[in-house]
Amino acid sequence: MAEDYPRTLMELERRFRDEQACREYLFRLRWSEGFGCPRCGGRTAWPTGRGLWLCSKCRHQSSVTAGTIFQDSHLPLTTWFRAMWHVTSQKNGVSALGVQRVLGLGGYKTAWALLHKLRRAMVRPGRDRLRGNVEVDETYWGGEEEGVKGRLTQNKALIAIAAQEDGRGIGRIRLRRIPDFSRASLHGFIGEAVEAGSVVRTDGLNSYLGLVGYTHERRVLRGQPDGDEPSMPRVHRVASLLKRWLLGTHQGAVGHKHLDYYLDEFTFRFNRRKSASRGKLFYRLAQQAVQVKPAPFDSLIRPPSVGGG
Ligand SMILES: [Zn+2]
Repeated sequence: MAEDYPRTLMELERRFRDEQACREYLFRLRWSEGFGCPRCGGRTAWPTGRGLWLCSKCRHQSSVTAGTIFQDSHLPLTTWFRAMWHVTSQKNGVSALGVQRVLGLGGYKTAWALLHKLRRAMVRPGRDRLRGNVEVDETYWGGEEEGVKGRLTQNKALIAIAAQEDGRGIGRIRLRRIPDFSRASLHGFIGEAVEAGSVVRTDGLNSYLGLVGYTHERRVLRGQPDGDEPSMPRVHRVASLLKRWLLGTHQGAVGHKHLDYYLDEFTFRFNRRKSASRGKLFYRLAQQAVQVKPAPFDSLIRPPSVGGG
């Protein structure tokens, strides 16, 4: 469907005032090429009175939310829609406490789970990789060791960053938590984040040596960088914005085991920071929310494996 989204909160309130309106919107996002029965592939369906679609061929009843992040939620879609609006209309996002207050949700846990489910929808399935000239670097997250210098660390989360050059500015970015700074981890990250044939710029860390499939430019620093142009300014800027965001919006209260999803949210926001309309972010989030698999509560609290994809 053509990109169709509310421009303002008023418009959102008017348009999505009941479950039916929300379902119809999701229907058009999920089955943008027309309905496809999950059981028989039939192309026509009739809405039933209970918010389901009845396949005219096999009589199977489909729900537009089954198999999406909205599955099995006890929250009405009107609440989900307001949460998606709230999350995307704020430049820096919102904390679980903020969402709980604004939407009048019963408990912190509900707000927390809602936000985490939405974060799962912030990575577009099958998204393309960065290309052109791409800076790649590593950074840390973990306040308790802020003073520790160097790359050796026990309690810090390690994060790989890739930032595409866009003239003198930054294009799109990719972030991923990695288990260590080994060759396998860093090469794996680059392979996943950067299109083969691109120019990859890194610092002098030995793990980057032997990078295959890319033009590799290493910047080896001896003591201070010469000149006042910092080496790889884009990845450094991204690292500092990321830390400021984690400390600001989330007040630093982001545990390692959930960090991946915060990285996804940061990436989602960063890559759309120049978008003219916040409504467009709402649209993108809703569109991806019907494409990603459900995330039951247990999977939200279970730590993901580092570097697992
Ligand atoms: Zn069918």
